[in-house]
Amino acid sequence: MHFKTKILKNSKKNILEVVSKLDSGEVIGLPTETVYGLAGRCDNKNTIDNIYKIKSRPKNNPLIIHYSNPNDALRDIYADSRAIELAKKFWPGPLSIVAKIKSRSIAREALADLNTVAVRVPSNKIFLDVLNKLKTPLAAPSANRYGKISPTSAKDVYEELNSKISIILDGGPSIIGLESTVIDLTEKDTKILRYGGLNKQEINKIISLDNNKTIKIFISPGLSSSHYQPDTSMRINAIRPRKNEAWLAFGAIPKHYKGIAISLSKKKCLKETAKNLYKMLRYLDKRKCAKIAVQKIPELGLGIAINDRLQKASFKKTNAKKY
Ligand code: AMP
Ligand code: MG
Repeated sequence: MHFKTKILKNSKKNILEVVSKLDSGEVIGLPTETVYGLAGRCDNKNTIDNIYKIKSRPKNNPLIIHYSNPNDALRDIYADSRAIELAKKFWPGPLSIVAKIKSRSIAREALADLNTVAVRVPSNKIFLDVLNKLKTPLAAPSANRYGKISPTSAKDVYEELNSKISIILDGGPSIIGLESTVIDLTEKDTKILRYGGLNKQEINKIISLDNNKTIKIFISPGLSSSHYQPDTSMRINAIRPRKNEAWLAFGAIPKHYKGIAISLSKKKCLKETAKNLYKMLRYLDKRKCAKIAVQKIPELGLGIAINDRLQKASFKKTNAKKY
């Protein structure tokens, strides 16, 4: 299908139009606090097929299902005490919980043939408004073409998916700017499958994570070593820029630097860095430089998720392999 894509402001009338389109099975670009999502009813096989098609996303990469409230989300999974505690503390918010699926209404196509599901309650007011009016949970991966930089504004979604969807609802810039943290509770050992908007330290205050039992060594369906990629090649963990490189600084930009440069956060704030990361990568990508060099970012707190995205963004496609 070919659409004349509209970016709509958040108004009562527009929300009702979006809800009606979602209800009838359409796929819509919606704001969330993490990144913009490509949302569709989770119980409609054709809708789910469309989400994969629009993104060119491989079918082995399951979708996160978004709910208007924790009770509905927990009712659709086999929720143990960890799930209940985490939900109480972090929902609504940037945490996706993977557990055995109980619901029979989620389309199998959204689950990559697994008997587990990732569920989340987002905190974005507009997304919640839509969910509350719709009364059906929404599958919503990021609203970008597969492997590309995630969108953090309605304009980014337009650049990514123009003509492939009818409506993008504008909710302003995403306040977190990184995807959700994905935590796997299907077994006794709790695993982090993907670092994101919620820190490990925060999670550790609620349930203790065994340090050796978290992170990338765990196989998370669909996760690939190359992702979030600009067209320009990248050099990460850089100390200073080289000739012809665009400089993505963490901290101040050197006073006499003559090249293209922008700072993720002049005061080295990781929260600000997360919020700016995708936006600034998109900006520099458009400048068509030989290379983007990114200043080293500390591997702590949100820095772990930021470095994970940078590593994938800079991964050479010729070496790209699934793990
Ligand atoms: P995205 O929709 O791009 O933010 O990515 C969703 C990610 O969540 C997937 O790539 C998986 O890594 C993870 N995920 C979703 N559902 C499951 C599941 N049932 N089991 C394990 N991981 C999942
Ligand atoms: Mg994504």
